[in-house]
Amino acid sequence: MAGSKAVQKEVKEFMTGLKRRNPHEGEFHQAVQELVETVMPYYLDHDQFRKWRILERMTEPDRVVMFRVTWSDDTGTIRANKAWRVQFNNAIGPYKGGMRFHPSVTLSVLKFLGFEQCFKNALTGLPMGGAKGGSNFNPKGRSDLEIMRFCHSLMTELFRHIGESKDVPAGDIGVGAREIGYMFGQYKRLENNFVGVLTGKGLEYGGSLIRKEATGYGTVYFAQNMLNHIDDSVEGKDVVVSGSGNVATYAIEKVLHYGGKPLTASDSGGSIYDPDGIDEEKLEFIKQLKEVRRGRISEYAEKYSSAKYLEGKRPWGVKCDIALPCATQNELNADDAKELIDNGVRVVAEGANMPSTLEAVHHFLDAGVLFGPAKAANAGGVAVSGLEQSQNSLRISWDAEEVDGRLQNIMKDIHAKCVKYGEGDGKVNYVAGANIAGFEKVAAAMVAYGVV
Ligand code: GLU
Repeated sequence: MAGSKAVQKEVKEFMTGLKRRNPHEGEFHQAVQELVETVMPYYLDHDQFRKWRILERMTEPDRVVMFRVTWSDDTGTIRANKAWRVQFNNAIGPYKGGMRFHPSVTLSVLKFLGFEQCFKNALTGLPMGGAKGGSNFNPKGRSDLEIMRFCHSLMTELFRHIGESKDVPAGDIGVGAREIGYMFGQYKRLENNFVGVLTGKGLEYGGSLIRKEATGYGTVYFAQNMLNHIDDSVEGKDVVVSGSGNVATYAIEKVLHYGGKPLTASDSGGSIYDPDGIDEEKLEFIKQLKEVRRGRISEYAEKYSSAKYLEGKRPWGVKCDIALPCATQNELNADDAKELIDNGVRVVAEGANMPSTLEAVHHFLDAGVLFGPAKAANAGGVAVSGLEQSQNSLRISWDAEEVDGRLQNIMKDIHAKCVKYGEGDGKVNYVAGANIAGFEKVAAAMVAYGVV
């Protein structure tokens, strides 16, 4: 293993070059820095990867498609949005990754997400390359018909860049079953081809059972695996969750299955803290509120007097054993991490993509918190997307038990890979483990192809 001074120097030099080549892309720099910090010692020890300049090549997307999406709103006003598909790396399988519709979407955000996706997908053990796409379109307050027109227009360009063996998009923030339905319908019409070109589809037209639950369930399976590894479990633990979308609600559901006590949920307006715990009935209220009525989480505190609404606040000040950030990137900073550590947090598993800042991650690792990074802890979603692709190719559908069983095994395997590559001094560094395990697989495939 190379000495740490030499490693730091290499990391610094590499990052200087990356920042020069990709100016003004803060989120992308952050995602690469997180990987390179832990992978560099391994990289320096493996001449075949260095010789082939794998790290330099891996941090440059294969291609980026950027396009305009024009549509008309319900008042007849013409709107134009920006959209992208970042096809990052297809060394180990067709490009795979979600589409995000949110006003915060920029090329930098999609490059960080596409980059992370390469390693996450590799960790699942399934043949999937990495990609991400999306638009700065804001779906909030838009009618169904507006969403439909936007999705149809977007697919009218995107269809020529994707395909079941080429690139298979899915959902992410702002893109759920409704949006996937509209996009799939337009693809089918344009190509006259009924194939599994998107995942997260409705059950009536090729979707998989457990896909909706997969990311949230997977995050809690991962937390359970980390705890089992030290002879403990989620049972009886206080759990703080951020977010109230798919990932958060199904994480809360799995915490309940395991006998833990979920205390919080949040949205962009604030958080609710329910000291009595969010039980099955209250969870059902959140699901209806968010999935059907598309309302605000503050309504929870109006309905349940046991709960407090923390306006404009994230839930990290609530004392807990386990924290599951399931909302969005950089939602948990260094101060939040310190507060969680002071309050005795023992496990953090990331349900969202890059929810913790780099400083926050360092604090957790220094304090000996079991920290499951997004690449590992939220890989359950894309893993079941991979299973959806398998079912589509086989033209069969597995029952919920079969899919859930496979998901549990995949999360267990990911945990084992993290232990294999991240164990040292009797402790597991899950960040290093996930990064090195994912990197090794993609790198080995790239070496096999020669200079391409
Ligand atoms: N957007 C999810 C993720 O971040 C799922 C991607 C997929 O299913 O392709 O992994």
